[in-house]
Amino acid sequence: MGIVDEDIVRVREASDIVAVVSEHVQLKRVGRRWAGLCPFHSEKSPSFSVNAEQGLYYCFGCGAKGDVITFVREIDHLDFAAAVERLAAGSGITLRYTDARDGENRKRRSALVEAVAAAVDFYHQRLLSGADAAGARKYLRGRGFSGEEVRHYQLGWAPEGWDTLVRELRVGREQLVEAGLAFVNQRGRLTDSFRGRVLFPIFNANGDPVAFGGRLLPGAEGPKYKNSTGSPVYDKSKVLYGLNWAKGDIVAADEAIVCEGYTDVVGFAAVGMGRAVATCGTALTEEHVRTLRSYAARVVLAFDADAAGQNAAARFHEWEQRYGLDVAVADLPVGSDPGDLARSDPDALRGAVERAVPFLTFRVERVLASRDLATAESRARAAAAALEVVGEHPDPLVRDQYLMDLADRLRLPADQLRQRLAGGGRSSTAGRPAAPATAVAPPADSPEFEALRLALGDPSVIAPSLHELLFADPVALDAYRRLVAVDWRVGQLVDAPPDVLALVQRLAAEQTASEPAEVVERLVEAAGQRELAVLGAEARTAGDERALEVAGLVAWLKPRLEELRDPRTAPAAAPVIMAWLVERHGALA
Ligand SMILES: [Zn+2]
Repeated sequence: MGIVDEDIVRVREASDIVAVVSEHVQLKRVGRRWAGLCPFHSEKSPSFSVNAEQGLYYCFGCGAKGDVITFVREIDHLDFAAAVERLAAGSGITLRYTDARDGENRKRRSALVEAVAAAVDFYHQRLLSGADAAGARKYLRGRGFSGEEVRHYQLGWAPEGWDTLVRELRVGREQLVEAGLAFVNQRGRLTDSFRGRVLFPIFNANGDPVAFGGRLLPGAEGPKYKNSTGSPVYDKSKVLYGLNWAKGDIVAADEAIVCEGYTDVVGFAAVGMGRAVATCGTALTEEHVRTLRSYAARVVLAFDADAAGQNAAARFHEWEQRYGLDVAVADLPVGSDPGDLARSDPDALRGAVERAVPFLTFRVERVLASRDLATAESRARAAAAALEVVGEHPDPLVRDQYLMDLADRLRLPADQLRQRLAGGGRSSTAGRPAAPATAVAPPADSPEFEALRLALGDPSVIAPSLHELLFADPVALDAYRRLVAVDWRVGQLVDAPPDVLALVQRLAAEQTASEPAEVVERLVEAAGQRELAVLGAEARTAGDERALEVAGLVAWLKPRLEELRDPRTAPAAAPVIMAWLVERHGALA
């Protein structure tokens, strides 16, 4: 990062390692060394040792070791330059940089940070004691903020009036504007950016104040939230509110909670979940994700992830893959806000994070929850909708696991779902928005349509061999039932739904040269495969005794389906399987 070597040595020598470590660890003198409980691993007896003469620390428990700069880097999760800068500030050393521009930039940036820090102080004092801040204090108390929280988060009050901050702060005009604290109005007057708002100072990961999020008091006019504009020290697509406080907890838990509001971060910390951060008035970006990934392997979204929309969903899956990140979704009560929930029902908030489910599971459940799964038809439609969601995941192994799960739950053959997924054309194109959900529709030459075509031409050639168990497509099944009821006289179909009527009219007009016996065999085979899928699902979920019984049924059915594929044995096998299916479903009914 370009700090002059000589200065790094000066910083190392000027820093008292015992004093620095003592800010985090209670040290006791043991002979020539100091000892205490290691801050980098959890232990009950001290194995952390500091050698003041050499300026080094070492842990006999976990092997952590280094000098004072390493210690600050590790304990505060800073990069090398930031650690050196922090220590330099503590010992009053002015650093020089190898690259003059680097030094210039750093100087300019630190001037802006100083300007924001001065503003944080001013606004905070105003909130604590200003007569004009009574309404703000009352509002914060009403939202459940304690005095301790107000001080910890350094909340502030931006007074009404045009230029209170500008007049109070001894900061150059250029810096005020560049830091986003003020702007030049149309008459050329320097004007405060924030007026009449409760302020949440935003810090970068190193703990430097860089911006503000401001909220109007209830009833006031204007946009409810207003954030600082971007500046050389503040890029909202990179900065996460609360990361400066949360990073230790995030590393310890290997998990970060991501929410949308400043008050949500405060709420999570209040219920003992100090690992929450918030995006600042923007959607979660790849930069945010990259930052979080350097602290933890898992991210729990604590906002309405469904409302984040289709594009966001596809991006989340891509990030999961690219960064080896697990994205989960907290099980928040619908319409609830973590900040409020923390005050009204802390257990519910903690439980929502503990019950977080993988992002894809969350989305599939949302789809299924909105549907009725009582009938075969409705389950087929639900499967189609759920597959649209599953198809967005870029990993074929993950897709297939979800597909098997759907097949089990919806009692549909996994192979049929696979075909559907592959046919959708989304399997290899992650990130493309899915087409709207439709029911599972077999191709035009499916045996189900073929059978209806034949029967509509001449019922006697095939109708006696058909059964409603042979129809899986909801529209074809509906058509079959209605046609049987009117003895295949299309003219007598009344009250049929438009899709059924359209199908029947089309099939009745189409020619076919299929062999009826072959069509029946293909239908029976498909029904047999569906039955195998159902049995497979049952075997996986049943108790031991029932599982044995199911295994027996599978052992009978599988060789019969083999016979069906052999033209020599198929004519005999088809009626046997059909009779077995009818009996089995009769027994189940
Ligand atoms: Zn240790």
